[in-house]
Amino acid sequence: MYVLALPEDKVPYVNSVGEKYRIKQLLHQLPPHDNEVRYCNGLSEEERRELRLFSVTYHLHVRYCNGLSEEERRELRLFSAQRKRESLGRGSVKQLPLSLPHDMTCAQCSERLSGGDIVVSAARAGPSTCWHPACFTCCVCRELLVDLIYFWKDGALYCGRHHAESLKPRCAACDEIILADECTEAEGRAWHMKHFACFECDARLGGQRYIMRDGRPYCLHCFDSMFAEYCDTCGHAIGVDQG
Ligand SMILES: [Zn+2]
Ligand SMILES: [Zn+2]
Ligand SMILES: [Zn+2]
Ligand SMILES: [Zn+2]
Ligand SMILES: [Zn+2]
Repeated sequence: MYVLALPEDKVPYVNSVGEKYRIKQLLHQLPPHDNEVRYCNGLSEEERRELRLFSVTYHLHVRYCNGLSEEERRELRLFSAQRKRESLGRGSVKQLPLSLPHDMTCAQCSERLSGGDIVVSAARAGPSTCWHPACFTCCVCRELLVDLIYFWKDGALYCGRHHAESLKPRCAACDEIILADECTEAEGRAWHMKHFACFECDARLGGQRYIMRDGRPYCLHCFDSMFAEYCDTCGHAIGVDQG
């Protein structure tokens, strides 16, 4: 009955558009690398297989961070344990009684709920807070929370990805949470110091001059050869001298 309240293309029938959407969202909302103990451990063999296929297809494998140091693993373990303890929950689907004792509204869209409606509730939000199934979404990306897994913070629902990002920056190169004190920031994005590198040639850019394009840093050499504009009069590249 929960699925009947969802948009058709988001209903997770096996091998359907909705199921692919679910797996894609699962990986996006609960990045396995945000947890030292992999979320994948709780999945069935079938789900794990699909996740593997999916991540190969979509090149989601992390480009850089295959191995964390002992220290980094310890920090990640603490970070993820704290988030689970303080914020993680799983919504439950229920049907409201046919006659409601008092007016109830959806916590997301504020529309009135009627007796007999199927709603989602979340233990961390308290027993009187309910959502339409289609309104049980992350406050940042507005996507449906996959498998009703949510994080609760300051009165709002988050997916795992955006909850983590509300606490720590995420590296724009490797997609992992940056636990170190130091990181490089540019144009509202963040990078591990060691991952702030030219998007084209991978040369490290810490302490170097660089140019941002579409949110990605380039060394001057690569930028020149890829994006330089040419002078109409003499035909030479117009030198890049900034960043
Ligand atoms: Zn609603
Ligand atoms: Zn989100
Ligand atoms: Zn990184
Ligand atoms: Zn380069
Ligand atoms: Zn010229």
